[in-house]
Amino acid sequence: MRKHIFNAGPCKLSDRTLENTSKAVLEFNNSGQSIMEVSHRGKDFQAVIDDAVALMKEVLNIPDNYSVLFLGGGASLQFCMIPYNFMKKKAFYLDTGTWSTSAIKEAKLWGEVVEVSSKDKDFTYIPKGFTVPDDVDYVHITTNNTIRGTEIFEDWTFKAPLIADMSSDILSRPVDVSKYAMIYGGAQKNMGPAGVTFVIIRNDMLEKVVDRPIPTMLKYQTHIDGGSMYNTPPCINIFAVRETLAWVKEMGGLKVMNELADKRANLLYSTIDESKMFRCPVVKEDRSRMNLIFVMEDKYKHLEEDFIKYASSKNCVGLKGHRSVGGFRASTYNACTMEDVEVLVKTMKEFEAQNM
Ligand SMILES: *Cc1c(COP(=O)(O)O)cnc(C)c1O
Repeated sequence: MRKHIFNAGPCKLSDRTLENTSKAVLEFNNSGQSIMEVSHRGKDFQAVIDDAVALMKEVLNIPDNYSVLFLGGGASLQFCMIPYNFMKKKAFYLDTGTWSTSAIKEAKLWGEVVEVSSKDKDFTYIPKGFTVPDDVDYVHITTNNTIRGTEIFEDWTFKAPLIADMSSDILSRPVDVSKYAMIYGGAQKNMGPAGVTFVIIRNDMLEKVVDRPIPTMLKYQTHIDGGSMYNTPPCINIFAVRETLAWVKEMGGLKVMNELADKRANLLYSTIDESKMFRCPVVKEDRSRMNLIFVMEDKYKHLEEDFIKYASSKNCVGLKGHRSVGGFRASTYNACTMEDVEVLVKTMKEFEAQNM
């Protein structure tokens, strides 16, 4: 029986993604070969990656002056590639938790980082209304903070090129891509299995690349020129991404994903807010719809392990908070259904009733 999966990443994927990818593992396109065995240079695989790029452009409504790449190395390699390619002297980073902190660490290798942080309140909110110096090479934000459960819901405008880590909220709402110079993320939160990274980059950014030697694999130009195949790409992952994008389109696209995300999050947050046992530490207006963080009130804290066990007995998995923050986290990405959330809510209410 399939569990109610609330893992933060890798995470639940659509049935279509799992079914079609598993079929392609056994035999791809009546070729007598597995997707893991065919040449990435063959026309059948070329069609898969072309289709994945075309679906990205269609689903996310990406303007023509952008390139879409599928790379290795995770979002974490982008933390390094971004400053390596674009940081001349100074960049602005919004520090909203673990992942942006990691991105800042890499940028500091190349120059001065101007930071605005929500660390003062343990990353429970998104800083707003801050000013960015005029002379920064770019602005970097993390639109959804997977570990802290905060999210930026608007497409902000800055003078400098805006670069966004959208690892964990890509495909959850319509995005005005034209506001961003670059959007990137690991696929494993809303797009596919771990092992492939998406990059959406405005072509004029290539004119802003710094004048220093950059290793071939770390240049965006290399991957644009090579059509994401300078080296062997993660073929099976790209296949799975293609299936997820096709599923999103079939479901009605990002407008529908957005509505479903609201429904799931509203049900779970209202349950948490009404509860006397659980509470959400994140300020209301910045609460993520993808990663819902909650903790137990102090007098129930000793029941944390028991709750995880009880939830597991009801087939709800992946609810433990990130090891750095503790508590609980329910990740409700696109493939998570209302039924999954309803079972979790029922489980929380039962547990509370039994232990008050
Ligand atoms: C998971 C995550 C990352 C790290 O992604 P990797 O692909 O594991 O390198 C970076 N940023 C955000 C927002 C994430 O959720």
